[in-house]
Amino acid sequence: MEMHQPPLIATNRRHFLLMCFPVQGHINPTLQLAKTLAHGGAKVTFTTTGGGLQSIQQTLPSLKGLTFVSFYDAPDHESSDGFSSFMSDLRKSGSENLLKILDKFEEMGQKVDCLVYSFLLPWVATVARASNVPSAFLSIQCAAAFSIYHRFFNAHDGIYNVNGGIKDESSVSVKIPRLPLFSAADLPTFLLPDDPMSHLVIPLMQEHIQELEKDDEPCVFMNTFEELEEDAINMFKDYKMNVIAIGPLIPSAFTRGNDSTDKSYGGDMFHKIDDHYFQWLDNKDEHSVIYISFGSLVVLNKEQKEEILHGLRETKRPFLWVIRSTDSEQEYIKQSLENEVKNGDGLIVPWCSQMEVLAHKSIGCFVTHCGWNSTLESLVSGVPIIGCPHFSDQTTNAKMVEEVWGTGVRARVNGEVVIGRDEFKRCLEMVMGDGERGREIRYHCKKWRGLALEVVKEGGSTNNNLKSVVDI
Ligand code: UDP
Repeated sequence: MEMHQPPLIATNRRHFLLMCFPVQGHINPTLQLAKTLAHGGAKVTFTTTGGGLQSIQQTLPSLKGLTFVSFYDAPDHESSDGFSSFMSDLRKSGSENLLKILDKFEEMGQKVDCLVYSFLLPWVATVARASNVPSAFLSIQCAAAFSIYHRFFNAHDGIYNVNGGIKDESSVSVKIPRLPLFSAADLPTFLLPDDPMSHLVIPLMQEHIQELEKDDEPCVFMNTFEELEEDAINMFKDYKMNVIAIGPLIPSAFTRGNDSTDKSYGGDMFHKIDDHYFQWLDNKDEHSVIYISFGSLVVLNKEQKEEILHGLRETKRPFLWVIRSTDSEQEYIKQSLENEVKNGDGLIVPWCSQMEVLAHKSIGCFVTHCGWNSTLESLVSGVPIIGCPHFSDQTTNAKMVEEVWGTGVRARVNGEVVIGRDEFKRCLEMVMGDGERGREIRYHCKKWRGLALEVVKEGGSTNNNLKSVVDI
């Protein structure tokens, strides 16, 4: 893949080893950072599990200075019951393999200068320290979410540490100066003890923070930008953390326009079948299409799909809906769609090139689970959001979208944690309609898109920060 963008000016050829967990939401920003560093003149080794690499190998970019290596060769976990043993095996074998990889590079005269690791892999910091290799944590969530983890687990006054765990989750809340209060419903769900994944994720997040605290001035790269999250980023100044905002980590064609041919992350774990949906989009009016996607992990239950379907039928607006082929109800929903939306104007696809879709002039709003990549992609594209968060940091992102950035609304769920058809319709009319709220939301979308494009330009905050990283 050839990319055209202003060079980041590497003073020498540093070697970065980037490690990420094998899920789409982690691979995309980590791979984008790998491409950016390689483009800036660094040598970059991208590593994830063998299973992860295999699933993305067909779309991987070929770029000077960028190579791919596996740090774990056993099969990835397949079910949630096996997740816990997979995670401990990943830690054990991953640590051993990482040491071997570091040694091998040293023998080859290509010593690793900086190890960059992402969420769920806190043990990488331990290996890095033992090997005397500088490391940086890559936060692929928003700065607000990372501040919340820090408020929970920091050794000085962490809510979790001080309380010896959270007992009453309904009363827990987090205040970050100048941001609205994050109550239980806005916190990353894995932090709440009732969450089914909390027993696995809480210790990992706690370990991440503890590992960072072992360094005098720990380095954290964040997939956000200073103008977007000034308040959350500033909070870290009191904690001697070197937080470097290097986002938005998205294919550069979407921030640099014709200056770049980099139109996709290059690590798709799912297959698109074909690109026919672009022709379909080309025939739609500007800002008329509702784009619906819940990312790579959320699976909607049948009731939720039916409610969305009814809501769509009633709004009579065209829509493009991603229902992954791994979803066992994909065929059922297609059938229902044909029955219910007679003469309707909708398309269901198993996967799409999301960033290209969001950048298409026909898209009028994005119904999303608010994964951080999707949220950031929407911000860069200037597309209003209807947030339907399910788990993890999605709740925090939806809060930021609605109350801080003003680029969308968060749908209200009923008792069954389902967004009803009337609520769905209400949100659609609010963000796409001509009312004052819709106009305000579209104004904010335009504003943030403008800022996102500025920060990557020569002299922009992210561009400057990336230069400092290439030279780190
Ligand atoms: N994505 C895509 N095509 C799709 C759906 C999603 O390329 O049809 C990409 C999307 O652009 C984003 C990633 O998959 O970069 C999903 O990451 P996110 O953080 O939004 O959610 P997660 O999948 O981690 O829940």
